[in-house]
Amino acid sequence: MRVATLGSGSRGNSVFVECGRTRFLVDAGFSGSEIARRLDLLGVAPESIQAIVVTHEHRDHTAGVGIAARRWHWPLYLTPATERACLSLLRGVETVRHYEGEVPFELGEVRIHPSSTCHDAADPVALTILDPDSGLKLGVATDLGRATTPVRNALAGCNFVVLESNHDEIMLRESPYPWSVKQRIGGSRGHLSNRLAADLAADLLHPALGGFLLAHLSDECNAPSAAMQQARKRLARKGYRGMVDVAPQDRPSPLYDVAALVDVARNGGPQLRLFS
Ligand SMILES: [Zn+2]
Ligand SMILES: [Zn+2]
Repeated sequence: MRVATLGSGSRGNSVFVECGRTRFLVDAGFSGSEIARRLDLLGVAPESIQAIVVTHEHRDHTAGVGIAARRWHWPLYLTPATERACLSLLRGVETVRHYEGEVPFELGEVRIHPSSTCHDAADPVALTILDPDSGLKLGVATDLGRATTPVRNALAGCNFVVLESNHDEIMLRESPYPWSVKQRIGGSRGHLSNRLAADLAADLLHPALGGFLLAHLSDECNAPSAAMQQARKRLARKGYRGMVDVAPQDRPSPLYDVAALVDVARNGGPQLRLFS
């Protein structure tokens, strides 16, 4: 299983996932040409992608969904309510496949479990993606005001989590945003703070958790170093040895090999093991 973000934040989100021969995107919040350019940076041909799974209708997740579906004939997997909220992006010629929250579905070789999230969209979800061959499980959980029990349960046992770490609570409080915007971002249907992300990450720990990719960082109310420091400190206290990284907005992240990261978290990696 390999995973990378094409970019992450309020100016566009998309996650590339590969399991065996199955390749797909979670969300496509960039223009068609930008999706092609960023996939090329990862060495991935758009023609090799099989689908887009859409988590919710906000434009930072859907700006390129219609264009990409028409250009590369990618089927769109979304809930009926998300489709209704995205109609202006669609022309009726795209292949649409519906899924429902809490009802797992198959996409190629993987099994996807959507869990409803607390967020101010029509029918937003977090996803877990299970590769039955390797047993590896990936979580993609951004755009959640709070981690509800169903989301926590779904994320349990993940080997790699793309996790929202949207804002630093003090930076948000002291930002020039109007009060209503601060309430929206920090509220239970907004975005997860660094503190809540670190708490959730710590709760999810188990020996085969290979990495956290902190995502959807706010430009104005966060800094990669702040998000990273808070998560690392919290996780180190629990003896975590895996990776913590931050997903950039303007370029793709590295392409992470989940099995290799799990190996490092469990054993210190193949090199270290040789000498132990
Ligand atoms: Zn978003
Ligand atoms: Zn959103």
